[in-house]
Amino acid sequence: MVEAVGVRKHFGDNEVLKGIDLAVRPGEVVSLLGPSGSGKSTFLRCINHLESIDGGEISVNGHLVGYRRAGGKKYELKPREIATARRDVGMVFQRFNLFPHLTALENVMEAPVFVKGVARTEARQTATDLLARVGLADKPAAYPAQLSGGQQQRVAIARALAMQPRLMLFDEPTSALDPELVGEVLDVMKGLAADGMTMIVVTHEMGFAREVCDRVVFMDGGVIVEAGPPSDVFTNPQHPRTRSFLSKVI
Ligand code: ATP
Ligand code: MG
Repeated sequence: MVEAVGVRKHFGDNEVLKGIDLAVRPGEVVSLLGPSGSGKSTFLRCINHLESIDGGEISVNGHLVGYRRAGGKKYELKPREIATARRDVGMVFQRFNLFPHLTALENVMEAPVFVKGVARTEARQTATDLLARVGLADKPAAYPAQLSGGQQQRVAIARALAMQPRLMLFDEPTSALDPELVGEVLDVMKGLAADGMTMIVVTHEMGFAREVCDRVVFMDGGVIVEAGPPSDVFTNPQHPRTRSFLSKVI
């Protein structure tokens, strides 16, 4: 589903990604761990073409991200092509970024209606079903300000799912939440994983990484230092940097 090969990214002199290789299979759930500044968010943003890359290649669902190939050469995608490529990818951030002037239901309907041109009645039905799926069947008419952080984040997940993504990227989706609200968001993500969604999750929730993820990828200083099943990485980390990181967060 995701193939990243030799991905490089710099901001000025600061090389943030120094050759990332990562392949994610359909249905696989991968957690991305690592210290602050190691490049986790930048890598996620590259997968969704929110950042362009300076070297290597990323493809999602067989399509090159940011480029297309013709006659052996790479050509940059046009804005319209980028928008099409992004349709396969849903992203959920630490901050929920809901439209404050729209209800929960309208937030979920927005992209299908205005980006995909789905008929309003159909979009309304899909949005109603998605709100139920994230446990918010009773909140379609609530505005973001009337919802808790956990509820808002679940609306944000429903909104991403409304575009029928093949891949979901989560960047610390529970970090901005009060502790008692973290569980309800993780439960929705667990449900998605159980339904076979391909997911890459940047998280500090080690319990989630251990229980739900097929693979843990540990990044430090713009490289992947270690990767493997959680049972291996958590119980028997091979690299000193992984050990040092885990000893601080577990
Ligand atoms: P955290 O755990 O704190 O979220 P992270 O692993 O997600 O960290 P990134 O946000 O990917 O780290 O940042 C990696 C490096 O890239 C940092 O040194 C950061 O300052 C730099 N960086 C990120 N975005 C930009 C930007 N738009 N312009 C310049 N530098 C940036
Ligand atoms: Mg980050």
